[in-house]
Amino acid sequence: MSAFPVGGKIPPEDWGNWRWQCAHAIRTVEQIPPELRSGDIASISEAVQRFGLVITPYYFSLIQQQDPADPICRMAMPTPEELVHTEGLFDDPIAEKTHRPIPGVIRRYPDRAVFLVSGQCAVNCRHCTRRHLGQNKVTPMTQGDVYVAVQYLKKNKEIRDVILSGGDPLLLKDQHLENLVSAIRAVPSVEIIRIGTRVPVTLPMRVTASLADVLARFQPIYINTQFNHPREITPEAEAAVAHLVDQGIQVANQAVLLKGVNDAPGIIETLCRSLIRIRVRPYYLFMCDLWQGTGHFRTSIQTGIDIMAHLRGRLSGLAIPQLVADLPGGIGKIPLGPNHIVSREPGRTVLRAPNGDQVAYPD
Ligand SMILES: *Cc1c(COP(=O)(O)O)cnc(C)c1O
Repeated sequence: MSAFPVGGKIPPEDWGNWRWQCAHAIRTVEQIPPELRSGDIASISEAVQRFGLVITPYYFSLIQQQDPADPICRMAMPTPEELVHTEGLFDDPIAEKTHRPIPGVIRRYPDRAVFLVSGQCAVNCRHCTRRHLGQNKVTPMTQGDVYVAVQYLKKNKEIRDVILSGGDPLLLKDQHLENLVSAIRAVPSVEIIRIGTRVPVTLPMRVTASLADVLARFQPIYINTQFNHPREITPEAEAAVAHLVDQGIQVANQAVLLKGVNDAPGIIETLCRSLIRIRVRPYYLFMCDLWQGTGHFRTSIQTGIDIMAHLRGRLSGLAIPQLVADLPGGIGKIPLGPNHIVSREPGRTVLRAPNGDQVAYPD
């Protein structure tokens, strides 16, 4: 079977239906058009074996096929590079397998807990940080797990922030999502609920007005998504965000710095500028986690710092994300950036301005 027919032939009511998109997603190596295969079938199949393959027709349509270095293609298409063993990378760099107090829950901070509620994504990002879970290997929380997790929240009142993740929580049915969110919302000590989802980017038609209605009943809800490249900001994505923001649900962005995708100051500048225009607040710019199989995506910390230095002074402060690295061992995320402190002495610190000038600042 070849890929679905692209362009013109699909009725808009199908194209705009998220279930149609999921039903017609690319899921096998054979469905990848030969001109987009970056190696031999056996190697690509091995990559798919390890890390899965799903690409919605919508996300696929963003690929400019004549460009061999297309950034969208790079994020979605399996390649033999994923099989390369890179010195210094890990199989569980942020120790998510060990920070599991109960099934389906990751907890690395006293006040926050991550619930792995879904086993599926609309697109399997090649740089995924839950890649060890792999396609068909994520066991999403069962109803029983959710019951146990809610009891856990009731007992551990210091957890104020519950983050729904997976997989992509927004691939759950509205009713399932509603049951889940209302059960968490019923715990008085939980203050905010966050949803980590790439659906606004990879399957924006999933964010219907009725989904936004359901979520808005359980405020405060925050959505964290992941736009990595300005070309992902389409009218469809903008409409998805609008459904949420119009209901008062804040949407923030957690981009990942990826070599060959967005590791250039001008690209991140355009991305962040476009995000605030569609009412998405840039939150984090992540160094790519140290996963084995992602060596081809890695950039240096210096590249990240140079990008941050470029943004400061050029962009509204609102549009500037925080550059962070998630430390090996599951210790947590730490902010990185240009160092503006030149020297300190009692009563006085010398600071470096973005233009390079040094200025004494009294205590
Ligand atoms: C990233 C992460 C969080 C959220 O961190 P913030 O800095 O508050 O966005 C919470 N729990 C775990 C396990 C995480 O990996």
